[in-house]
Amino acid sequence: MEANCGGQPTDYGTLLPLNGDHTASPPISIQNVQRQGLRCLLYSPQPLSPGDRVRQEVDFTRRWDHMQQHTGQHLLSAVMGTYDGLATVGWGMGKEGDMNYVDVPRRPSPEEMRDIQDRCNQLIRENLPITVKTPENARDNKLPDDYDKSLGIVRVISIGDLDHNTCCGTHLCQTLHVSLILLSNKTQTVHSKNCRLFFTAGDRAVKLSSVSVDALSSISRLMSCGNAPDEIVANIKRLCDATAELKKKEANLLLDLARHEGDRAKALLQGGKNAWVYRPDGSFEFINRVVSTVGESVRGCRGVVIIAAGEVKKAGPVVVYGEKEAVEAAVTKIKGIVKDIKGGGKGERWQGKVSEWRREEMEALKELASV
Ligand SMILES: [Zn+2]
Repeated sequence: MEANCGGQPTDYGTLLPLNGDHTASPPISIQNVQRQGLRCLLYSPQPLSPGDRVRQEVDFTRRWDHMQQHTGQHLLSAVMGTYDGLATVGWGMGKEGDMNYVDVPRRPSPEEMRDIQDRCNQLIRENLPITVKTPENARDNKLPDDYDKSLGIVRVISIGDLDHNTCCGTHLCQTLHVSLILLSNKTQTVHSKNCRLFFTAGDRAVKLSSVSVDALSSISRLMSCGNAPDEIVANIKRLCDATAELKKKEANLLLDLARHEGDRAKALLQGGKNAWVYRPDGSFEFINRVVSTVGESVRGCRGVVIIAAGEVKKAGPVVVYGEKEAVEAAVTKIKGIVKDIKGGGKGERWQGKVSEWRREEMEALKELASV
Protein backbone atom coordinates (compact mmCIF):
# COMPACT_ATOMS: atom_id res chain seq x y z
CA MET A 1 0.00 0.00 0.00
CA GLU A 2 1.13 3.52 -0.80
CA ALA A 3 1.47 6.29 1.78
CA ASN A 4 0.27 9.85 1.15
CA CYS A 5 2.62 11.05 -1.58
CA GLY A 6 2.85 13.52 -4.45
CA GLY A 7 -0.39 15.24 -3.43
CA GLN A 8 -2.19 11.90 -3.55
CA PRO A 9 -4.05 10.58 -0.48
CA THR A 10 -2.99 7.34 1.14
CA ASP A 11 -4.24 3.96 -0.06
CA TYR A 12 -6.86 2.04 1.91
CA GLY A 13 -6.99 -1.74 2.03
CA THR A 14 -7.01 -4.81 4.25
CA LEU A 15 -4.55 -7.12 5.97
CA LEU A 16 -5.63 -10.74 5.99
CA PRO A 17 -3.85 -12.69 8.76
CA LEU A 18 -2.61 -16.04 7.37
CA ASN A 19 -2.96 -18.66 10.07
CA GLY A 20 -0.59 -21.61 10.04
CA ASP A 21 -3.49 -24.02 10.55
CA HIS A 22 -5.29 -22.66 7.42
CA THR A 23 -8.16 -21.27 9.49
CA ALA A 24 -9.54 -17.95 8.30
CA SER A 25 -9.24 -14.74 10.30
CA PRO A 26 -11.39 -11.71 9.56
CA PRO A 27 -9.59 -9.11 7.41
CA ILE A 28 -8.28 -6.00 9.20
CA SER A 29 -9.25 -2.72 7.58
CA ILE A 30 -6.31 -0.34 7.04
CA GLN A 31 -7.07 3.34 6.49
CA ASN A 32 -3.90 4.97 7.73
CA VAL A 33 -0.63 4.48 5.85
CA GLN A 34 2.34 6.77 6.49
CA ARG A 35 5.82 7.08 5.02
CA GLN A 36 8.54 7.23 7.64
CA GLY A 37 11.95 7.65 6.03
CA LEU A 38 12.20 4.80 3.56
CA ARG A 39 9.59 2.69 5.30
CA CYS A 40 5.87 2.48 4.68
CA LEU A 41 3.94 2.12 7.96
CA LEU A 42 0.47 0.60 8.00
CA TYR A 43 -1.50 1.43 11.14
CA SER A 44 -3.57 -1.57 12.16
CA PRO A 45 -6.57 -1.02 14.45
CA GLN A 46 -5.82 -4.39 16.08
CA PRO A 47 -2.46 -5.75 17.28
CA LEU A 48 -0.34 -8.18 15.28
CA SER A 49 2.66 -10.07 16.64
CA PRO A 50 6.14 -9.91 15.11
CA GLY A 51 6.43 -12.70 12.56
CA ASP A 52 2.69 -12.92 11.83
CA ARG A 53 2.11 -13.59 8.16
CA VAL A 54 -0.51 -11.45 6.41
CA ARG A 55 -1.75 -10.82 2.90
CA GLN A 56 -2.14 -7.18 1.88
CA GLU A 57 -5.00 -6.20 -0.37
CA VAL A 58 -5.28 -2.69 -1.71
CA ASP A 59 -8.69 -1.06 -2.21
CA PHE A 60 -8.22 -0.93 -5.96
CA THR A 61 -11.33 1.14 -6.72
CA ARG A 62 -9.89 3.92 -4.56
CA ARG A 63 -6.35 3.44 -5.93
CA TRP A 64 -7.62 3.51 -9.56
CA ASP A 65 -9.54 6.71 -8.91
CA HIS A 66 -6.46 8.29 -7.32
CA MET A 67 -4.24 7.19 -10.21
CA GLN A 68 -6.69 8.68 -12.72
CA GLN A 69 -6.88 12.03 -10.88
CA HIS A 70 -3.12 12.15 -10.24
CA THR A 71 -2.09 11.15 -13.76
CA GLY A 72 -4.76 13.52 -15.10
CA GLN A 73 -3.05 16.31 -13.15
CA HIS A 74 0.37 15.42 -14.65
CA LEU A 75 -1.16 15.59 -18.13
CA LEU A 76 -3.08 18.80 -17.47
CA SER A 77 -0.02 20.50 -15.94
CA ALA A 78 2.15 19.34 -18.86
CA VAL A 79 -0.29 20.92 -21.34
CA MET A 80 -0.77 24.13 -19.31
CA GLY A 81 3.02 24.44 -18.94
CA THR A 82 3.24 25.12 -22.68
CA TYR A 83 1.28 28.40 -22.21
CA ASP A 84 2.88 31.62 -20.94
CA GLY A 85 2.18 32.13 -17.24
CA LEU A 86 0.25 28.88 -16.74
CA ALA A 87 2.93 26.70 -15.09
CA THR A 88 1.41 24.75 -12.19
CA VAL A 89 2.49 26.07 -8.78
CA GLY A 90 0.36 23.73 -6.65
CA TRP A 91 -2.40 21.17 -6.85
CA GLY A 92 -4.76 19.21 -4.63
CA MET A 93 -6.89 16.11 -5.12
CA GLY A 94 -10.54 16.44 -4.17
CA LYS A 95 -12.17 13.80 -1.97
CA GLU A 96 -14.06 11.02 -3.72
CA GLY A 97 -16.50 12.58 -6.20
CA ASP A 98 -15.17 16.13 -5.69
CA MET A 99 -13.17 18.13 -8.21
CA ASN A 100 -9.39 18.54 -7.98
CA TYR A 101 -7.54 21.81 -8.48
CA VAL A 102 -4.35 23.21 -9.95
CA ASP A 103 -2.99 26.65 -9.02
CA VAL A 104 -1.46 28.75 -11.79
CA PRO A 105 -0.08 32.33 -11.79
CA ARG A 106 -2.90 33.83 -13.92
CA ARG A 107 -6.46 33.16 -15.03
CA PRO A 108 -6.61 31.52 -18.46
CA SER A 109 -9.02 33.03 -20.98
CA PRO A 110 -12.17 31.00 -21.87
CA GLU A 111 -10.55 30.20 -25.26
CA GLU A 112 -7.40 28.93 -23.53
CA MET A 113 -9.52 26.78 -21.19
CA ARG A 114 -11.26 25.17 -24.17
CA ASP A 115 -7.91 24.64 -25.97
CA ILE A 116 -6.28 23.12 -22.88
CA GLN A 117 -9.18 20.70 -22.36
CA ASP A 118 -9.16 19.74 -26.06
CA ARG A 119 -5.40 19.17 -26.06
CA CYS A 120 -5.55 17.03 -22.92
CA ASN A 121 -8.26 14.82 -24.41
CA GLN A 122 -6.39 14.60 -27.70
CA LEU A 123 -3.30 13.34 -25.82
CA ILE A 124 -5.50 10.80 -24.01
CA ARG A 125 -6.70 9.49 -27.40
CA GLU A 126 -3.07 9.32 -28.65
CA ASN A 127 -2.45 6.86 -25.78
CA LEU A 128 1.06 8.02 -24.85
CA PRO A 129 3.04 5.61 -22.67
CA ILE A 130 3.63 6.67 -19.07
CA THR A 131 6.92 5.31 -17.80
CA VAL A 132 8.85 5.37 -14.54
CA LYS A 133 12.67 5.63 -14.47
CA THR A 134 15.10 6.02 -11.60
CA PRO A 135 18.15 7.75 -13.14
CA GLU A 136 21.14 8.50 -10.93
CA ASN A 137 21.12 12.18 -11.89
CA ALA A 138 17.43 12.79 -11.12
CA ARG A 139 16.61 16.19 -9.66
CA ASP A 140 16.35 15.66 -5.91
CA ASN A 141 16.30 19.14 -4.38
CA LYS A 142 12.73 18.70 -3.15
CA LEU A 143 13.21 15.41 -1.26
CA PRO A 144 11.84 15.35 2.30
CA ASP A 145 14.49 15.80 5.02
CA ASP A 146 13.97 12.29 6.37
CA TYR A 147 14.48 10.62 2.98
CA ASP A 148 17.91 8.94 2.59
CA LYS A 149 18.66 9.14 -1.14
CA SER A 150 21.73 6.89 -0.83
CA LEU A 151 19.40 4.00 0.08
CA GLY A 152 16.21 5.09 -1.66
CA ILE A 153 15.36 6.05 -5.21
CA VAL A 154 14.12 9.14 -7.03
CA ARG A 155 11.53 8.36 -9.68
CA VAL A 156 11.02 10.30 -12.88
CA ILE A 157 7.57 9.92 -14.41
CA SER A 158 7.42 10.53 -18.16
CA ILE A 159 4.39 11.02 -20.37
CA GLY A 160 5.77 10.07 -23.81
CA ASP A 161 8.24 12.80 -24.73
CA LEU A 162 5.83 15.45 -23.51
CA ASP A 163 6.66 15.67 -19.83
CA HIS A 164 9.18 14.41 -17.28
CA ASN A 165 8.55 14.91 -13.57
CA THR A 166 10.02 13.56 -10.36
CA CYS A 167 7.13 12.14 -8.35
CA CYS A 168 6.48 9.49 -5.69
CA GLY A 169 2.74 9.02 -6.30
CA THR A 170 1.01 6.23 -8.18
CA HIS A 171 0.31 6.65 -11.90
CA LEU A 172 -1.42 4.92 -14.78
CA CYS A 173 0.77 3.30 -17.44
CA GLN A 174 -0.84 4.95 -20.48
CA THR A 175 -2.78 8.16 -21.09
CA LEU A 176 -5.80 6.29 -22.49
CA HIS A 177 -6.53 5.12 -18.94
CA VAL A 178 -7.10 8.75 -17.87
CA SER A 179 -10.20 8.44 -20.14
CA LEU A 180 -11.33 12.06 -19.88
CA ILE A 181 -10.29 15.43 -18.44
CA LEU A 182 -12.93 18.06 -17.72
CA LEU A 183 -12.17 21.63 -16.67
CA SER A 184 -14.70 23.72 -14.78
CA ASN A 185 -15.17 27.40 -15.68
CA LYS A 186 -15.27 28.12 -11.92
CA THR A 187 -12.02 29.74 -10.73
CA GLN A 188 -10.83 31.16 -7.42
CA THR A 189 -8.11 33.62 -6.47
CA VAL A 190 -5.75 32.04 -3.94
CA HIS A 191 -2.94 33.59 -1.88
CA SER A 192 -4.16 36.89 -3.43
CA LYS A 193 -2.25 36.27 -6.64
CA ASN A 194 -2.69 32.76 -8.06
CA CYS A 195 -5.69 31.41 -9.93
CA ARG A 196 -7.19 28.08 -8.82
CA LEU A 197 -8.70 26.00 -11.64
CA PHE A 198 -10.90 23.01 -10.96
CA PHE A 199 -10.74 19.79 -12.97
CA THR A 200 -11.76 16.18 -12.81
CA ALA A 201 -10.53 13.08 -14.64
CA GLY A 202 -11.29 9.46 -15.42
CA ASP A 203 -14.33 7.57 -14.11
CA ARG A 204 -14.90 10.45 -11.67
CA ALA A 205 -15.31 12.83 -14.62
CA VAL A 206 -17.71 10.42 -16.35
CA LYS A 207 -19.81 10.11 -13.17
CA LEU A 208 -19.84 13.89 -12.70
CA SER A 209 -20.95 14.33 -16.34
CA SER A 210 -23.68 11.76 -15.83
CA VAL A 211 -25.11 13.34 -12.66
CA SER A 212 -24.81 16.77 -14.28
CA VAL A 213 -26.87 15.64 -17.29
CA ASP A 214 -29.48 14.15 -14.90
CA ALA A 215 -29.53 17.39 -12.90
CA LEU A 216 -30.03 19.44 -16.08
CA SER A 217 -32.96 17.20 -17.04
CA SER A 218 -34.53 17.63 -13.60
CA ILE A 219 -34.06 21.41 -13.73
CA SER A 220 -35.50 21.63 -17.26
CA ARG A 221 -38.58 19.71 -16.08
CA LEU A 222 -38.98 22.03 -13.07
CA MET A 223 -38.52 25.07 -15.29
CA SER A 224 -40.72 23.63 -18.09
CA CYS A 225 -38.03 24.44 -20.63
CA GLY A 226 -35.77 22.55 -23.03
CA ASN A 227 -32.74 20.50 -22.00
CA ALA A 228 -30.06 22.65 -23.66
CA PRO A 229 -27.69 24.12 -21.02
CA ASP A 230 -27.86 27.65 -22.51
CA GLU A 231 -31.67 27.59 -22.43
CA ILE A 232 -31.66 26.36 -18.82
CA VAL A 233 -29.19 29.07 -17.72
CA ALA A 234 -31.28 31.76 -19.47
CA ASN A 235 -34.45 30.48 -17.74
CA ILE A 236 -32.78 30.38 -14.30
CA LYS A 237 -31.49 33.91 -14.85
CA ARG A 238 -35.05 35.09 -15.68
CA LEU A 239 -36.33 33.31 -12.55
CA CYS A 240 -33.67 34.95 -10.35
CA ASP A 241 -34.50 38.39 -11.80
CA ALA A 242 -38.23 37.82 -11.23
CA THR A 243 -37.58 36.65 -7.64
CA ALA A 244 -35.48 39.74 -6.90
CA GLU A 245 -38.24 41.94 -8.34
CA LEU A 246 -40.91 40.17 -6.22
CA LYS A 247 -38.80 40.56 -3.07
CA LYS A 248 -38.49 44.28 -3.78
CA LYS A 249 -42.26 44.56 -4.27
CA GLU A 250 -42.93 42.56 -1.09
CA ALA A 251 -40.60 44.82 0.92
CA ASN A 252 -42.37 47.92 -0.44
CA LEU A 253 -45.81 46.46 0.33
CA LEU A 254 -44.72 45.63 3.87
CA LEU A 255 -43.53 49.20 4.35
CA ASP A 256 -46.85 50.52 3.00
CA LEU A 257 -48.59 48.25 5.47
CA ALA A 258 -46.35 49.58 8.26
CA ARG A 259 -47.35 53.14 7.35
CA HIS A 260 -51.02 52.13 7.44
CA GLU A 261 -50.54 50.41 10.84
CA GLY A 262 -48.67 53.49 12.09
CA ASP A 263 -51.62 55.71 11.12
CA ARG A 264 -54.06 53.32 12.87
CA ALA A 265 -51.87 53.32 16.01
CA LYS A 266 -51.63 57.11 15.92
CA ALA A 267 -55.43 57.43 15.92
CA LEU A 268 -55.75 55.04 18.89
CA LEU A 269 -53.06 56.88 20.88
CA GLN A 270 -54.74 60.18 20.24
CA GLY A 271 -58.01 58.65 21.44
CA GLY A 272 -56.31 57.86 24.78
CA LYS A 273 -55.81 54.17 24.09
CA ASN A 274 -52.90 51.77 23.59
CA ALA A 275 -52.21 50.25 20.16
CA TRP A 276 -51.16 46.72 19.19
CA VAL A 277 -49.32 46.07 15.91
CA TYR A 278 -48.28 42.55 15.03
CA ARG A 279 -46.83 40.98 11.88
CA PRO A 280 -45.57 37.36 11.84
CA ASP A 281 -43.17 38.30 9.00
CA GLY A 282 -42.30 41.76 10.30
CA SER A 283 -38.70 42.93 10.38
CA PHE A 284 -37.02 45.78 12.26
CA GLU A 285 -37.49 47.82 9.09
CA PHE A 286 -41.26 47.25 9.43
CA ILE A 287 -41.18 48.17 13.14
CA ASN A 288 -39.10 51.28 12.50
CA ARG A 289 -41.52 52.43 9.82
CA VAL A 290 -44.46 52.06 12.25
CA VAL A 291 -42.55 54.05 14.88
CA SER A 292 -41.57 56.79 12.43
CA THR A 293 -45.19 57.05 11.18
CA VAL A 294 -46.47 57.48 14.75
CA GLY A 295 -43.61 59.93 15.32
CA GLU A 296 -44.32 62.96 17.46
CA SER A 297 -48.02 62.18 17.91
CA VAL A 298 -47.19 60.26 21.13
CA ARG A 299 -46.62 63.59 22.86
CA GLY A 300 -49.14 64.04 25.63
CA CYS A 301 -50.67 60.59 25.11
CA ARG A 302 -50.99 58.25 28.06
CA GLY A 303 -51.04 55.12 25.87
CA VAL A 304 -48.24 53.29 24.10
CA VAL A 305 -47.94 51.37 20.87
CA ILE A 306 -46.62 47.82 21.23
CA ILE A 307 -45.17 46.43 18.01
CA ALA A 308 -44.31 42.73 17.84
CA ALA A 309 -43.07 40.43 15.09
CA GLY A 310 -42.27 36.74 14.69
CA GLU A 311 -44.31 33.57 14.44
CA VAL A 312 -45.55 31.49 17.37
CA LYS A 313 -42.80 29.09 18.59
CA LYS A 314 -40.17 31.28 16.95
CA ALA A 315 -38.12 34.26 18.13
CA GLY A 316 -39.18 37.83 17.43
CA PRO A 317 -38.64 41.47 18.39
CA VAL A 318 -40.92 43.70 20.48
CA VAL A 319 -40.82 47.49 20.54
CA VAL A 320 -42.76 49.71 22.94
CA TYR A 321 -43.12 53.35 21.90
CA GLY A 322 -44.73 56.25 23.74
CA GLU A 323 -44.12 58.85 26.44
CA LYS A 324 -41.28 57.85 28.80
CA GLU A 325 -43.44 57.10 31.89
CA ALA A 326 -46.07 55.27 29.84
CA VAL A 327 -43.36 53.11 28.23
CA GLU A 328 -41.81 52.23 31.62
CA ALA A 329 -45.19 51.25 33.05
CA ALA A 330 -46.05 49.17 29.96
CA VAL A 331 -42.66 47.36 29.96
CA THR A 332 -43.15 46.37 33.63
CA LYS A 333 -46.51 44.81 32.71
CA ILE A 334 -45.08 43.14 29.58
CA LYS A 335 -42.28 41.54 31.59
CA GLY A 336 -44.96 40.09 33.88
CA ILE A 337 -46.71 38.53 30.87
CA VAL A 338 -43.85 37.37 28.60
CA LYS A 339 -41.43 35.36 30.73
CA ASP A 340 -38.34 35.22 28.54
CA ILE A 341 -38.40 38.71 27.09
CA LYS A 342 -35.11 40.62 27.25
CA GLY A 343 -34.37 44.12 26.16
CA GLY A 344 -33.56 47.67 27.05
CA GLY A 345 -33.92 51.29 26.09
CA LYS A 346 -34.38 54.70 27.54
CA GLY A 347 -37.03 57.29 27.05
CA GLU A 348 -39.68 56.88 24.41
CA ARG A 349 -38.51 53.64 22.85
CA TRP A 350 -37.93 50.28 24.54
CA GLN A 351 -36.69 47.42 22.42
CA GLY A 352 -36.73 43.75 23.38
CA LYS A 353 -36.58 40.23 22.02
CA VAL A 354 -38.57 37.10 22.76
CA SER A 355 -36.58 33.90 22.17
CA GLU A 356 -39.75 31.86 21.57
CA TRP A 357 -43.24 33.24 21.26
CA ARG A 358 -45.96 31.36 23.14
CA ARG A 359 -49.48 31.78 21.79
CA GLU A 360 -51.02 32.54 25.20
CA GLU A 361 -48.36 35.18 25.97
CA MET A 362 -48.96 36.82 22.63
CA GLU A 363 -52.73 36.86 23.23
CA ALA A 364 -52.22 38.40 26.70
CA LEU A 365 -49.92 41.04 25.21
CA LYS A 366 -52.52 41.88 22.59
CA GLU A 367 -55.13 42.21 25.32
CA LEU A 368 -52.84 44.50 27.32
CA ALA A 369 -52.41 46.71 24.28
CA SER A 370 -56.14 46.84 23.55
CA VAL A 371 -57.15 48.98 26.52
ZN1 LIG B 1 2.86 11.99 -9.86
